[in-house]
Amino acid sequence: MSVTPSASTKASTPDPSLDPMHADAPGHADGPDPALHRTNTFSLLAVDDNASDLDILRRLVRRIPEWTVNLTTCTEAMDGLSLLEQRKIDVVLVDYRLGAINGIQLLEVIRRTGFEGAIIVLTGQGDERLAAEAMRAGAADYMPKSDLTVASLRRAVENALERNRLQLALIEHRRRLERANQDLQKKNQEIRSFYHTLSHELKTPLTAAREFVSILLDGLAGPLTEQQVEYLRYVKEGCDQMTVCLNDILDITRVETGRFSIQPIPQPVAALVHRTLAGFANRARNAGIDLEARIAPGLPDVLIDAHRITQVVGNLIDNGLKFTPAGGKVSVDVEPDAGAPGRVRVSVIDTGRGIASEHLEHIFERLYQVRDGSEQSRMGLGLGLFICREIVKLHGGELDVKSELGKGTSFTFDLPAAPVAPVTSNPQSEGTEKNHE
Ligand code: ADP
Repeated sequence: MSVTPSASTKASTPDPSLDPMHADAPGHADGPDPALHRTNTFSLLAVDDNASDLDILRRLVRRIPEWTVNLTTCTEAMDGLSLLEQRKIDVVLVDYRLGAINGIQLLEVIRRTGFEGAIIVLTGQGDERLAAEAMRAGAADYMPKSDLTVASLRRAVENALERNRLQLALIEHRRRLERANQDLQKKNQEIRSFYHTLSHELKTPLTAAREFVSILLDGLAGPLTEQQVEYLRYVKEGCDQMTVCLNDILDITRVETGRFSIQPIPQPVAALVHRTLAGFANRARNAGIDLEARIAPGLPDVLIDAHRITQVVGNLIDNGLKFTPAGGKVSVDVEPDAGAPGRVRVSVIDTGRGIASEHLEHIFERLYQVRDGSEQSRMGLGLGLFICREIVKLHGGELDVKSELGKGTSFTFDLPAAPVAPVTSNPQSEGTEKNHE
């Protein structure tokens, strides 16, 4: 190392700029530093291959009476490393020019040992451009040797200690957050698998109960009074509602564990819509709501998982009926998608209560429900639209919503048309078949 302006030659005599008398030169003791009074008991290691500079450093340190410092010095980089292993060091002052190994390289080696203290690099004149490199390599600060005074040393060391303390506190805080996050994820996983198991366990007896209610309603176990029929219908509706909730919970766990998938098969969409609609006809009639399908002619077949698309259309009709008063209308429109050739567009439109704009952007979120105190809003789990959107996404589409409060809501999504199989005539194979005959 050299502290002389000509950095290439080793100086055995101290740089005049390191003279302690230089300590209070104007421009260096510029005002009280708030960090000065915070940290004053620590251990400091100085690594510098110039013994005279180390001596100056010792004298500078002695001139700071506020410090209770355990100062260790060495002239060899390797000695510095083994001292770091043996002792608890809070700050390292390392000369940039250390002979075979430079300060930045030593700094990297030190950091690799897991040293968590502060490192300050001392640079000679002309080495200032190395400061950025030193900071990138993990130095808390750098000090040009020509600026080394009691005040500047004190300020740099105390600031570095304080910054290091804050950084370590931040790292510890982050570690704690990561641990808490891992715990939460584990708990979340446990809750998820609990719900999954519970839903499975509840579904079996529920299905059996529903079957027996159906047997009773069909009169297979003897005649029933009108009142018994009415009560049993309530039981059946309750079973259906619980089944929907349990299926939603099972679907959610599938989505969250990446096991939600579809098996698309080419098929006509009109039949699917009519079938789904028929399942709601009674309910719509009883509620005084007009339910209809408007299917454009000549639609291509679509490549879809019929079970899942029935679930989407059913869920949207169910919501439409739930939030539309008597005298209103719910319709399902199916037409070619004008904006995306080769796709078929499905819309479920109602003339119901509508959704306020502040809720509209959230309704596809998991568990989101518009709580307005009405009986309808208490039904369901707030999972339906989230699952519908996932299903539509698996079909390569988007589920969109438009709504006006008091006027109605429309949900729209598009489905991929099935590729048309090319009609080929192969005279050769016809010939072969004839020969075969
Ligand atoms: P839920 O199964 O609880 O109804 P959804 O995910 O299906 O949950 O719907 C979320 C919320 O979006 C509902 O609580 C309701 O407030 C609102 N919503 C959905 N569809 C309609 C609709 N057609 N008209 C008015 N509000 C609707």
